[in-house]
Amino acid sequence: MLMRVAFFLATGAFTVGCVPTPTTSPSPSPQAATTTTLYMPRAVTKAYAKGTRSPDGKPGANYWQNRGRYNIAITALPPNRTINGSEEITYFNNSPDTIRIPVIRLFLNIHKPGAPRAGGARATYLTSGVQIDSFSVNGQGTKWPGTETTFTFQRVGLSTPLLPHDSIRLSFKWHYEISQRSGREGMLDSTTYFLAYFYPRVAVYDDYNGWDTMTFTDGQEFYSDFNDYDVAITVPANYVVWGTGTLLNPSDVLQPAPLDRFNRSFTSDQTINVATKADNESKAVTKQSTNTWKFRSANIPDMTFNLSDHYVWDAASVVVDDSNHRRASVQAAYNDTATDFHYMVQFGRHALDWLSHNWPGIPYPYEKTTVVEGQAGMEYPMMVNDESYADTVFSRFVVEHEIAHTYFPFYMGINESRYPMMDEGWATALEYLIGIADLGKQRADRSFETFRVRGWATNTSPLEDLPIITPADGLTGGAWGDNAYGKAALGYLALKDLLGEAAFGTALHAFMDRWHGKHPIPWDFFYTINDVTGRNLNWFWNVWYFSNGYIDLAISGVTHSSGGYSVTIDNIGGIPAPVDLEAHYADGTSDVIHETPAIWEANLRRATISLPTRKLLNALVLNTGIWLDADSTNNRWSPKGTP
Ligand SMILES: [Zn+2]
Repeated sequence: MLMRVAFFLATGAFTVGCVPTPTTSPSPSPQAATTTTLYMPRAVTKAYAKGTRSPDGKPGANYWQNRGRYNIAITALPPNRTINGSEEITYFNNSPDTIRIPVIRLFLNIHKPGAPRAGGARATYLTSGVQIDSFSVNGQGTKWPGTETTFTFQRVGLSTPLLPHDSIRLSFKWHYEISQRSGREGMLDSTTYFLAYFYPRVAVYDDYNGWDTMTFTDGQEFYSDFNDYDVAITVPANYVVWGTGTLLNPSDVLQPAPLDRFNRSFTSDQTINVATKADNESKAVTKQSTNTWKFRSANIPDMTFNLSDHYVWDAASVVVDDSNHRRASVQAAYNDTATDFHYMVQFGRHALDWLSHNWPGIPYPYEKTTVVEGQAGMEYPMMVNDESYADTVFSRFVVEHEIAHTYFPFYMGINESRYPMMDEGWATALEYLIGIADLGKQRADRSFETFRVRGWATNTSPLEDLPIITPADGLTGGAWGDNAYGKAALGYLALKDLLGEAAFGTALHAFMDRWHGKHPIPWDFFYTINDVTGRNLNWFWNVWYFSNGYIDLAISGVTHSSGGYSVTIDNIGGIPAPVDLEAHYADGTSDVIHETPAIWEANLRRATISLPTRKLLNALVLNTGIWLDADSTNNRWSPKGTP
């Protein structure tokens, strides 16, 4: 998602056990610097003991994850708001455990009156939730155990347990009323429906947490297994359906002319108007019958769709993999009045191209992306739901952020609900890096500081100091947002500065290679980077991700000798940020000395920077760049009496 969610339950303070943090005294105390181990929750420790994860950061010899095969049929007949669905899930238990009470997720019960949710709900947001019309297990009709107070997950007792390495068939018929109030899903207008979180699914059962029974409050976004999907969506004539996966039957649902334009877009750099406003108005897009649009995708964490009878449709494509010249399709669906969306296919092409070839520098892993004009600023696999903005530079910024999520959480299988540092943190770091390419470093820095960092740097609430590793389901407000976005991203960017571009790239690619399509947690990342770089970076992880630190450096002393100057820097806040020391000389010249976070490895509290020069200093300035200093009043020095 794009921004910090501004509404949260006021659930009170939350504390987490953690490694000893550096003392608040600026006196030299190398204790944290020599900490060689990372705090680990007891449940995670057990996973390492069972060998499902490995101390070298690789998936353990006993690693497993469960998966499902989903066959879903949906009927949507706007302006009727009832969505009818039927579904068969074949769920494979790859775990060593016998499953007796699986957990089924019904996300859209967040619309039920009384459901716990992160924000308030207008009357138009509320619905009666998901109505299960029939449920069967291995073909046997079974009473659905849901009650009035069942919300976004439901435990279901099995009469016959699901044994390890066996599978089970779960069948549902269900219906729900689509919400009139659109957020991440719902009605975009009376004849445009965005379907997300819309089907019953088996919750994630994993090796370190068991069943994921976190209540979905709309604060968190995803934690999903990698499943195979066939989804058929039946809509009236003149409705186009866009969605995750391969559209299997375009020739069944499109008239010849738009079909030809659609097909040509897969080899076109130029934006092709597959369906214009005039095409929609003259009913020249779809076959003139009730149409069933069929989509398929394998090994993907979710499926999302948009349907409309008047959204215009653009498409083109871009080479994302130079090794085999593979192109990915970029499509956009929007109201013709949304001026910025007329550029959206090219914004999307640029994002896929840049992300594939620069950072993370892994070919875009899917066949397409579709950017839908909605109201969410929200990512889904192969789909983006973004608002329209008057400022096209901002529209591009937002869509780049959402498309960056392709890698984190989707390609990497991140548990964003608990560890958004591995999802929003990376999307925010990537958003900054592509921003430099788009805008130049100076503008990208200013934008990043304003949008992502200043809130943390200037907010003295103790909630802001909670460690990034804090389970996000225990956080609210700015503590949640800054830990997920700005703080986490700054840590990754500080790591890049510490390691240098080449080593950072090698380490990041090793992590992504080891864990894509699986369910990595923060320790898998930290240990992989340690392993691949051959360095014990726990001193760095401890302060950046496990401590209550913040960024505040100070010039605490300057000594002058015949060889030059020696500048002592105190790290008051505790976080090891990169720093530029600007030296302004009496003769009007100046130097900038860049120090990576490595200067804090030996002593997290105090570092000395040598300034060999024969010139006389007029002033020194500590500049921490995007790693905004919480108190910049102690960042300057000038010799007394110097003019
Ligand atoms: Zn995001």
